[in-house]
Amino acid sequence: MKVKGNAGEHLTTNAPYGYMKDPDNSKHWIPDREAADVVYEIGLYVMDGFGPSQIARKLRERKILTPAAYYESKGIPCNVKKQGDPYGWDNTTIAGIMDRWREYLGHTVNFKTTKKSYKSKKKIKNPESEWVIFENTHEPIWTEAIAEAVKQARQSRRRPTKMGEMGMFSGMMYCADCGSILYQCRATGFRKDQEYYICSGYRKGKQVCGTPHSIRTVILEKLILQNLREIVSFARSHENRFVQMVMDMDVKERNKGLAKKRKLLSEGEKRITELDIIFKRLYEDNISGKLTDERFHKLSTDYEAEQTGLQTRAAILREEIEEVEGKSANVDRFLSVVRQYTDIPELTPRILHEFVEKIVIHAATDPHSKINRRQEVDIYYKGIGILEMFKVFDSRQK
Ligand SMILES: [Zn+2]
Repeated sequence: MKVKGNAGEHLTTNAPYGYMKDPDNSKHWIPDREAADVVYEIGLYVMDGFGPSQIARKLRERKILTPAAYYESKGIPCNVKKQGDPYGWDNTTIAGIMDRWREYLGHTVNFKTTKKSYKSKKKIKNPESEWVIFENTHEPIWTEAIAEAVKQARQSRRRPTKMGEMGMFSGMMYCADCGSILYQCRATGFRKDQEYYICSGYRKGKQVCGTPHSIRTVILEKLILQNLREIVSFARSHENRFVQMVMDMDVKERNKGLAKKRKLLSEGEKRITELDIIFKRLYEDNISGKLTDERFHKLSTDYEAEQTGLQTRAAILREEIEEVEGKSANVDRFLSVVRQYTDIPELTPRILHEFVEKIVIHAATDPHSKINRRQEVDIYYKGIGILEMFKVFDSRQK
């Protein structure tokens, strides 16, 4: 089992719902078209902001066979427990499918569970650190964007909202000061325009986050939609200028971080050279008798320790610098998404997730003033990051 798992072979007897064993090679999974389409649609529902219970209801209404009923109808033996209702989808089944986003992206995940003992059939879950993942082992059913939405939905599930619905921004909003995730709150009476996102760090207490970072959902939607429209129309009508702008900004952004690291590195390197000279002098002094053996030993040990420390740090810095230098904006991906949309009449979860990677909310300055209230919102677009030229502020009253 261990050898097979570490070699990237599938350890489960059955392929996950949506896949089947390749008739030509039982070690290989291929999509089971009918079931794969259902899995794909579940992914799209997630992108539209629906939670597991709502998705289950939709599938029940559409009279889609549950995995167990589907296998039965095809005469495929399976270990999924049968239910009376062939359309009886429930939130656990949907959540189970969502939790396999890695498999639906085309990766193999081994050692998720272990048997308690040889005798017992009971399985225990292994921590994620013990999983072994093999990438691109089979055809994906979900796109990266879908998998990302699913992952984020599962990560932010610990706080379901009262109506059981997840807001479309859930899992992608962060506090500028404490870095915590923002979650959606509903006001009493379920007034849609009173829904807001608030920093989870602030809720934990003042020592985690001092000021309430929050923003109303309707305002956020408006801001993002406006910003997206501006950028998309600019990118479409001035493609070359847009590419140039993103590239320049990317270089500037990266140089900011690089300058600091390069300075630290050159300081470290200078000291390493200095220490070499000091060593040489110590040695000469010791030979000529100016320095006792004992003293020489003590000093050289100290300097050596310092130099070893510096060398380790320099190596780490060099690696970090190389990494930043190697990364560059993926403006092509962004433009290919831009070309898919001639017009963005409204912000849908799908559009949001295709374009936006994350949103960082700053605390409002002068929050109670009608005139001076200003709140900065950083929108990180997928593949290109923040666009300074299109920076967003909200100066509306709360
Ligand atoms: Zn915070």
